[in-house]
Amino acid sequence: MDISENIKKYKDELPENVKLVAISKTKPNEDLVEAYNAGQRILGENKIQEMTDKWEELPKDIEWHMVGHVQRNKVKYMAPFVSLIHAVDSLKLLKEINKRAKQNERSINCLLQIKIADEDSKFGITSEEAREILNSEAYSKMENVKVIGLMGMATFTDDEDQIRSEFKYLKSVFDKFRDEHPDLQELSMGMSGDYQIAVDCGSTMVRIGSSIFGARNYN
Ligand SMILES: *Cc1c(COP(=O)(O)O)cnc(C)c1O
Repeated sequence: MDISENIKKYKDELPENVKLVAISKTKPNEDLVEAYNAGQRILGENKIQEMTDKWEELPKDIEWHMVGHVQRNKVKYMAPFVSLIHAVDSLKLLKEINKRAKQNERSINCLLQIKIADEDSKFGITSEEAREILNSEAYSKMENVKVIGLMGMATFTDDEDQIRSEFKYLKSVFDKFRDEHPDLQELSMGMSGDYQIAVDCGSTMVRIGSSIFGARNYN
């Protein structure tokens, strides 16, 4: 894999309003440095411990995005530095993020993960649950956390029509919410296999791992 070539390819190809989150999970620091040297500043990880280790060792102008499922008891480790948490799925988690952000005298941006896939294994909440969180009194009182958008993962399938309809659904939820919540600016959808469809459907943030860094090897 020529990581810097791949980064350049995506930078050229993606529309200007679409941010590239390079998903570096499981990859060694040399690979992340190569992406960094090619100009990439947003990196995404799905494990808090791994992200924290990498943050400690790599340049401090990297924006770290947590894209994986978050356990409340681990929020404290990333609270000092995380720049966006993509997969918030409860008010309780938002409360914990708010508390830890406050202890670090900062504000943390989050996305609510909406379940759009037709699969049991995917995390996320319904649009109705997301609306309840956004409209809750508890959320309105949180001063150190801000929901700036929504995130979704489409079904893992070859059926492009199905993927498209899932992304379109998420875009419609996003547009509806934005009437009441103008803070919602980001729509995180699209991965290596489906980012083109996601961009067509209005994604503002694609999360691309394997087609930048190569296949992952989980041991
Ligand atoms: C791993 C991961 C990605 C990247 O997947 P690729 O198919 O390698 O591009 C995107 N989003 C989330 C939430 C992930 O965990």
